[in-house]
Amino acid sequence: MEFPKPTEDAVNREMLQAWHAHGELLLQHCTQCAAVTYYPRRICPSCWSSRMENRPSAGEGTVISFSVVHRGVDEAFRQLGTTVTLASVRTDDGPQLITLIVGDDRDQVAIGGRVRLARDADRERYPLPVYSLAPSGKDAS
Ligand SMILES: [Zn+2]
Repeated sequence: MEFPKPTEDAVNREMLQAWHAHGELLLQHCTQCAAVTYYPRRICPSCWSSRMENRPSAGEGTVISFSVVHRGVDEAFRQLGTTVTLASVRTDDGPQLITLIVGDDRDQVAIGGRVRLARDADRERYPLPVYSLAPSGKDAS
């Protein structure tokens, strides 16, 4: 099955390839003002410097909000017949991102729960970084 993929360009290529090849999330660090950002941009959203450097995320974060989506917006997802857990996660590195929570225990996701980068996820199916519940995240309520 062919899943939708993000459009790769000169700005996001390194981030997309790091995830695809190594299960790594690259965040942009501004060498001018030290802002840490995600998603990849040409210039820093804080100071407009173009001196942005990719560095790997430590991989841990906290769920800010989530939603369980029962009806896929794309045919590829509808054919799976499964729900998707969409979440806003604040990484411990700083930036917040919209991502999917994956894993058989994803129905135990909770606001404030701890998650970690799912480095071993099927990266053909998930072309952007996804998270799974961290052991401590399962106890949050
Ligand atoms: Zn900056």
